[in-house]
Amino acid sequence: MITPQQPATFNVSFEFFPPKSEKMEKTLWASIERLAPLNPKFVSVTYGAGGSTRERTHRTVQALKQRTHLAPAAHLTCVNASCVEVDAVVDAYAEAGVQHIVALRGDPPDGIGSRYDAHPDGYQNTADLVAAIRARHAMEISVSAYPERHPESPDWDTEIDVLKRKVDAGATRAITQFFFDNTDYYRYIDRVSDAGITIPIVPGIAPIHSFKSVARFAKGCGARIPAALAARFDGLDADPKTHELVAATVAAEQVEGLRRQGIRDFHFYTMNKSDLVFAICHLLGMRPSAPPVASAEKPAIAVV
Ligand code: FAD
Repeated sequence: MITPQQPATFNVSFEFFPPKSEKMEKTLWASIERLAPLNPKFVSVTYGAGGSTRERTHRTVQALKQRTHLAPAAHLTCVNASCVEVDAVVDAYAEAGVQHIVALRGDPPDGIGSRYDAHPDGYQNTADLVAAIRARHAMEISVSAYPERHPESPDWDTEIDVLKRKVDAGATRAITQFFFDNTDYYRYIDRVSDAGITIPIVPGIAPIHSFKSVARFAKGCGARIPAALAARFDGLDADPKTHELVAATVAAEQVEGLRRQGIRDFHFYTMNKSDLVFAICHLLGMRPSAPPVASAEKPAIAVV
């Protein structure tokens, strides 16, 4: 139980995607400015499908490094690139002072559901990519985790084995695909710990900006929409104000539930929007703190 007399601490991190227009760039930076005072442990920037945002991801990560006190993490995938090309991207990040890569295999170039064929001269899987980064630089390396299994996964043994290989190769943290039923996450954590995996498995929280879009996206990536969740958004498609209030409540309840079970780190999929994430953090007791010092490892937030 968290009380003001005994403040607990927790950490948040925020995920953004690289903007592709001036307008989107303005929205992104407005969101970063609003969320930065919450003192995130790190902020990550995604890599477009098939490596399509290579330059934009790099520019955004570099701007975060140069213009803010935040610790940026660059997502990087193996898709459509040779090992030499991927190594060059990693080295450029290291040179720019970026200390954290989110290492991923990436979706098949023909889209989710199609067969994944690795680039003939590229890293064949995520564990290979992690090992290559680890061999070149002493960076933080985060990887993905799937509490409801990846859609390509044949069974749980394979699923956990793939995670274990990434950890053995040098991953220091896993961030989960978003999920809406916390019991899926708890069961997954049990499987992970039974396999002797000890790195933090940080829950990925997706605030529902649009239930319709999230439901569509969830279908593609194998995340389940519980009927009770769908019922809470029923009839709100044309009522954005109520939709937003419900979304804040739903996500705050989810995070509060995880926190009651002792989870202390949360990764938010922001979609480059700040209002919902800020409101959820506020509901959880987080308040903007004094401007943090420029260091990779930020102090955790005090819950008031
Ligand atoms: P892995 O974890 O390496 O593998 C995924 C799954 O595939 C495994 O869990 C397993 O089920 C199966 N699998 C892998 N290897 C084998 C094998 N040898 N035999 C049998 N089964 C196997 N995509 C992007 O394009 N850009 C991003 O920026 C991005 N960021 C992401 C961030 C997070 C936190 C998460 C959870 C996902 C992200 N993705 C991103 C999506 C990700 O690229 C896709 O889910 C992709 O299909 C798998 O990549 P991965 O690194 O998760 O793969």
